[in-house]
Amino acid sequence: MRAYVLSTGDELIRGRTLDTNTSEIARALAAEGVTVIGASLVGDDEADLVAAIRRAAGEADVVILSGGLGPTEDDCTRRAVAAAVGVPLERVPEIADALRQRFAARGMTMAPSNLLQADRPVGAETLPNRFGTAPGFAMSLGNATLFALPGPPHEMRGVLTEELLPRLRRLLPAERRVVRTRALETFGEREATIGEKIRDLMARGRQPRVGTTAGRGVIRVIVHAEGSETEVEAALAKEEAEIRRRLGASVYGVDGETLPEVVGRMLLARGMTLAVAESCTGGLIGASMTEVAGISSVFLGGVIAYANAVKIRELGVDAATLDRVGAVSEEVARAMASGVRAKFGSDVGIGITGVAGPDGGSPEKPVGTVHVALDVRGTVTHRRLSLPGDRALVREIAAKCALDLVRRTIG
Ligand code: AMP
Ligand code: MG
Repeated sequence: MRAYVLSTGDELIRGRTLDTNTSEIARALAAEGVTVIGASLVGDDEADLVAAIRRAAGEADVVILSGGLGPTEDDCTRRAVAAAVGVPLERVPEIADALRQRFAARGMTMAPSNLLQADRPVGAETLPNRFGTAPGFAMSLGNATLFALPGPPHEMRGVLTEELLPRLRRLLPAERRVVRTRALETFGEREATIGEKIRDLMARGRQPRVGTTAGRGVIRVIVHAEGSETEVEAALAKEEAEIRRRLGASVYGVDGETLPEVVGRMLLARGMTLAVAESCTGGLIGASMTEVAGISSVFLGGVIAYANAVKIRELGVDAATLDRVGAVSEEVARAMASGVRAKFGSDVGIGITGVAGPDGGSPEKPVGTVHVALDVRGTVTHRRLSLPGDRALVREIAAKCALDLVRRTIG
């Protein structure tokens, strides 16, 4: 099956809004084994859209449009599809009722123009949208099937998954080829080292395909399998097991999972709590933990101990030690970890202190030197890191290293 994707909106062709719908739709289609033969952006111009729809329907079996289903004059997808197919628009009472109810439920009065969203080309089928006011629709044009989706990305995504994909699957042959990927998220080992451990799996021409991407400290190993549904599932499971066997504890999660999510889950499973004492990361560890919803039973809080006086006053770091070895030292990191653990009564305490740069480095403690300490119920461990990169990267990787240390220690 061949598909063409059309995204509409003046804001897209003027470059003011980044077109994310096309790539999201293309990924979803590829996962179903549908070949995307092309994609275009079209402005809010009915004649342009009619021409683009006819062209796409002449080349592809399925045309997927997004945008232009709003209540304003520039939203012309309904009119353009009707014109391309050669049918009039009709007002659909059920859609109009649903719109009125939606507004009433929020205690709002509906503008008369909202009723335009109850119009549908004659012969189209409605794709309900429980994420917003504009439903999508599906209809035939020659041998092609057109699907029109709302433009706002979360509405597009909702209608795509709940309404479009189930219908698309019914159009596909039963033993179809699908494409699936599984990403294994790793931290703590260099891309080259990982590449050596799985070199044979990454050989060109091999099935499933295995590749790596690297960004901000996380090395992702991506497995890409094609075949029937059952073949693909089996191939992914087998490959994942082999990669995990070779990479061991470096693999911390799958399919976009983050270190804070994984650490949060591990702490929850063990009934443990965490508190953080952050100097060079200035709260990044705490911020990343609180990005995870429902983390409050695990993550208690922390102290941003940037000034030495705060390390002494809030965390009980010994002033004489600070004087003797300096703030960026193993001793101070250890004292911070234990100090914050005692202060918050947590099971785990993190202490982190380092030179993020660009200034402040010395021959003994160059920029990128970071000390991380972990106090787990009284047992303190420590790592000295030498991190590459600019200030932002050093801070970000340092925060991730600290969480990685928690993961490896309590795992
Ligand atoms: P529309 O349904 O055309 O009125 O689109 C409503 C809003 O959804 C627009 O103002 C954009 O912010 C957003 N939007 C529409 N199409 C896209 C797209 N292809 N990618 C990302 N955002 C979009
Ligand atoms: Mg628009």
